[in-house]
Amino acid sequence: RTILGIESSCDDTAAALVRGSPTGAEILSNVVYGQTDAHAAFGGVVPEIAARAHAEKIDLAVKQCLSDAGLTIKDIDGIAITAGPGLIGGVLSGVMCAKGIAAATGLPLIGVNHLAGHALTPQLTDHIEFPYLMLLVSGGHCQFLLVEGPDRYTRLGGTIDDAPGEAFDKTARILGLPQPGGPSVEATAKTGDPKAIKLPRPLLNRDDCNMSFSGLKTAILRARDDLVAQHGGLRIGDRADLCASFQAAITDVLAHKTRRALAVARAKNPAVHTVAVAGGVAANSAIRAELQAICAETGTDFVAPPLALCTDNAAMIAFVGLHRLASGDIDDMSLSARPRWPLDQTSPTLLGSGK
Ligand code: ATP
Ligand code: FE
Repeated sequence: RTILGIESSCDDTAAALVRGSPTGAEILSNVVYGQTDAHAAFGGVVPEIAARAHAEKIDLAVKQCLSDAGLTIKDIDGIAITAGPGLIGGVLSGVMCAKGIAAATGLPLIGVNHLAGHALTPQLTDHIEFPYLMLLVSGGHCQFLLVEGPDRYTRLGGTIDDAPGEAFDKTARILGLPQPGGPSVEATAKTGDPKAIKLPRPLLNRDDCNMSFSGLKTAILRARDDLVAQHGGLRIGDRADLCASFQAAITDVLAHKTRRALAVARAKNPAVHTVAVAGGVAANSAIRAELQAICAETGTDFVAPPLALCTDNAAMIAFVGLHRLASGDIDDMSLSARPRWPLDQTSPTLLGSGK
């Protein structure tokens, strides 16, 4: 079976073709049009600009992914579209586009939860088996999920405020580094001393899987202002020290809570022997290395999908579509776009559009 996936829930317009079965799928093509330039002047994603850019680019992305794979729409068995959660204008653009294609071709329409896409990615890339613990850590999300099946997710905990990607982006802004902040902060941190600046590690002593990152940006802002006040500006090395200290604080919290989440996941399902990461922040090599070390220590496998599949893409959406089509769970034209759609409310009967 071949599924066309479409993703437009944030600031990437993406289309992809995935072929195979839930246990052995292959990516035929994977097109992502980013919008970083369109939002650059505003220091963040502007929903209206994003919605317009998606509407302009979405047809192009679909055509491109078909031509990259050397296929036509006649070769497709189903259309999987992100139906939420996300910025509603973008999600609507995608849902409209997918409904248009479904209406014109009669192909099955499958409304996919974006988070399920991230959560199932390790199965697409590394063919790992259920159950596993997933740390989804991105610009908009940070949560631990016990994944026991394509429609069985239990949220074990997560951030109670900002997502780490957001904290990276804000830190970059405070220090005058380019957006997106993750890569620029990581690069700057390389020459810094992670112990140079004392930063908070909130909720570390709490015996649960929750995290908090909003205090970090305030702490970075204060540390920067202190340095500027003391020395009349940031000296050579100050930025690197701030970035290294910031990255170490995030890494500590994620590592500590991953250890905790692993214990909680194993208590619920002793068969858990894999930790998988997804989301843009999973690209960070310091964070990856630390998580890998924890897994090695606890005799757990560690899976980190390739970067291009950790960040938003449509291959992961197509892959969820493959699962859903295999179980005959498809939507109809009443499929609606959902700005909010928590993953663990996704029961088999609600997996589609949540009708
Ligand atoms: P979501 O997927 O939750 O809706 P999103 O689209 O912003 O949100 P992604 O595209 O998965 O999320 O990830 C983007 C985020 O990842 C940005 O905040 C970016 O700064 C961060 N990021 C990217 N590379 C790195 C890195 N090397 N280190 C840390 N963070 C990174
Ligand atoms: Fe995402």
